[in-house]
Amino acid sequence: MANLPSHSLVAPLRTSLAWSLARSSHLLSRHSKVLCRSICTSQRRFDKTPTTIHSRNGASNTRNLIAASSSAHVNKLSNGTARRTFASVQTSQEPTLETEFLVVGAGPAGAALACFLTSYGLKGVMISTAPGTANTPRAHITNMAALECLRDIGLDKDLEALASKGDEHMIHTRWCHSMAGEEYARIHSWGNGPDRKVNEDARLQIFRPSTDFPIQGEYETASPCGPMDLPQTQLEPVLVRYATMNGFKTRFDTTLLSFETDSDTGLITANIRDNLSGQEYQVRTKYLFGADGARSQVVKQLDLPLSVKPGQGMAINVLVKADLSHLVEHRRGNLHWVMQPDKEHPDFGWMGIVRMVKPWNEWMFILFPTRECDFQISPSKEEYLQRVRDFIGDDTPAEILDVSKWFINEIVAEEYSQGNIYCMGDAVHRHPPFNGLGSNTCIQDAFNLAWKVAYVHRGLADPSLLSSYSTERQPVGRQIITRANDGFREHFNVWQALGMLSEDVESRKQVLAELTAPTPTGRERRQAFQAAISNTCHEFHGLGVEMNQVYSGPGVYSADEAVPFKHSGPAAEDPVLYYEKSTYPGCRLPHVWLNTTTPTEPKSTIDLAGHGAFTLFTGIGGEHWREAAKKVSAELGVPVEVHSIGFREEWEDVYFDWERVRGVEESGAVLVRPDRYVGWRAPTVLESEEACESKLSTVLASILGRKTS
Ligand SMILES: Cc1cc2nc3c(=O)[nH]c(=O)nc-3n(C[C@H](O)[C@H](O)[C@H](O)COP(=O)(O)OP(=O)(O)OC[C@H]3O[C@@H](n4cnc5c(N)ncnc54)[C@H](O)[C@@H]3O)c2cc1C
Repeated sequence: MANLPSHSLVAPLRTSLAWSLARSSHLLSRHSKVLCRSICTSQRRFDKTPTTIHSRNGASNTRNLIAASSSAHVNKLSNGTARRTFASVQTSQEPTLETEFLVVGAGPAGAALACFLTSYGLKGVMISTAPGTANTPRAHITNMAALECLRDIGLDKDLEALASKGDEHMIHTRWCHSMAGEEYARIHSWGNGPDRKVNEDARLQIFRPSTDFPIQGEYETASPCGPMDLPQTQLEPVLVRYATMNGFKTRFDTTLLSFETDSDTGLITANIRDNLSGQEYQVRTKYLFGADGARSQVVKQLDLPLSVKPGQGMAINVLVKADLSHLVEHRRGNLHWVMQPDKEHPDFGWMGIVRMVKPWNEWMFILFPTRECDFQISPSKEEYLQRVRDFIGDDTPAEILDVSKWFINEIVAEEYSQGNIYCMGDAVHRHPPFNGLGSNTCIQDAFNLAWKVAYVHRGLADPSLLSSYSTERQPVGRQIITRANDGFREHFNVWQALGMLSEDVESRKQVLAELTAPTPTGRERRQAFQAAISNTCHEFHGLGVEMNQVYSGPGVYSADEAVPFKHSGPAAEDPVLYYEKSTYPGCRLPHVWLNTTTPTEPKSTIDLAGHGAFTLFTGIGGEHWREAAKKVSAELGVPVEVHSIGFREEWEDVYFDWERVRGVEESGAVLVRPDRYVGWRAPTVLESEEACESKLSTVLASILGRKTS
């Protein structure tokens, strides 16, 4: 234990561092491979708010029921466009801009929020103190939960075209002496284990689960998306471009200094500095979004309460150009832990992870220093290069492109918002990259918030709906900072089993020797090593922690449920590892492939829902729900799509998967919110159309925080 690294539990706290949907799926080219096409063909969700009632033969009958009523709001509230251009700022005597939505930060959180807001036709301003999008590829594991959000606005295919994935690139995490050298162990990762596999070719062939809770093929059945490796340097430009092309003004080199809220009007005045000219000016906004990362000025000024656990030290990212393609054929994977217990090590590079950035010629060498290492340490380029060479293990030429430090935090804000100021991303949850939950959670924060802002802004929901953002997302933040740090702590067992924690080379060599010894001690050590490696499946196959979020609070209607939500099946035993599909209110809408009676391209339930509208799924015998939805939609001015799934219905439940997961009878109903979380469900149809209408009206009004008449 003597050599316990600085990122140990005892390391000091370093907090300071540490509808329309009119832009319906049909109009937005969600499957377009070309971003530009998806941008150009997109129309705003609120241009019209049609309710589409699908008849039993699958024909659509779209009616623009509420355009007239919502246009009054549009006029009253304006469309959110910044009223003065930034060009005029330079010369203006009165440099105050007005907007309705000011997003501070253009990282995964801020840029995703701007994308989602703009998909509702809401325009605003996004600022970033950085000179451009991410200059180092920090986040890379992009999970299905985040991709489903981006799929809603048609960006998943654009990102897929840029990403590395599957068997080819993400199949393993390895532990080795060097990239060229001996391997200690490997584990299947990111949905590529034969037991839980994603098979790109079979994606649309549909895997057939043999039990109610499939474990084999679980990734494939979990989502219409698949996990991918997409460096942050590639993700951010796609998001910023989409937001900008759709009307969100984006300004880099622009820093938020402070802000004030006017207690009479509720408007927020942000004090901004243009980093290039040094000029300071003000932006007056209705909403302020703090997506300004782990050192968030917004969180600091709001003084949001933070739950802070001891930090676990520092790590150093060394971005390297080195063509290792000659090594990868039998070492495929995007994460390679390198440990050399039999050798001396510099303090700044006790061990490390060699992470694929671009297959196979760009890599991030993530170095973990020893406990004794001073955080201010500043090794020379040659010293870094030597460590990189040690980790590569042969004479492959290597060039250092960038070096940066980061800190291992375990911090979550207890509240995510105050008044009309909403914080998200690393600003409110700060944790290490284990499980790859950072940027993914940022995107989901934004997706949760955007529809609520849009509905409130258009007068379709009461402002109280916005309080559900913090209620729903804060527990997720707490969960992921804990999981990410647990993931890190679990590696401790691997280091211990390999002898990395012993003080000196000789005792480390002894431990290594023990690992091969035909003795009880040797056997014990091998077992401990195997157990430690196997346990990392919670990091590398943690589908449950990625997909199992269950929301509660005013944004869901669970009053009709007989019992509180509880996991069952494998997810009850291990909710980090296994995802359980459920339609219990507050759960993610289960993905199921459907088709028409005369088969065409399979359609996911995920794609039928979302796109800014509520969606009601029913089945044979559920006609009253359809009519009720139509009336309630008109009455409340809220878009409600209706889909019927069943034998010879609009959608065939081709493999009876919906039957397995829908959790209600054929005639029942599952109401899904615009963010594709279940808002409410009814076990069966009610006795009359009026009863269904009354129930649905009560439920929708409750979710939206509206008073019922
Ligand atoms: C080594 C490493 C690997 C990682 N791997 C993964 C992974 O595989 N998967 C994953 O999901 N996550 C991963 N992450 C985490 C991920 O990088 C972060 O969670 C994510 O970048 C946070 O996004 P954000 O938008 O909240 O903040 P940031 O990306 O930090 O962006 C903050 C934004 O705010 C701006 N800003 C800051 N202050 C101001 C101000 N005062 N005024 C104006 N603008 C301001 C910045 O310029 C920037 O645009 C990793 C992180 C690291 C370090």
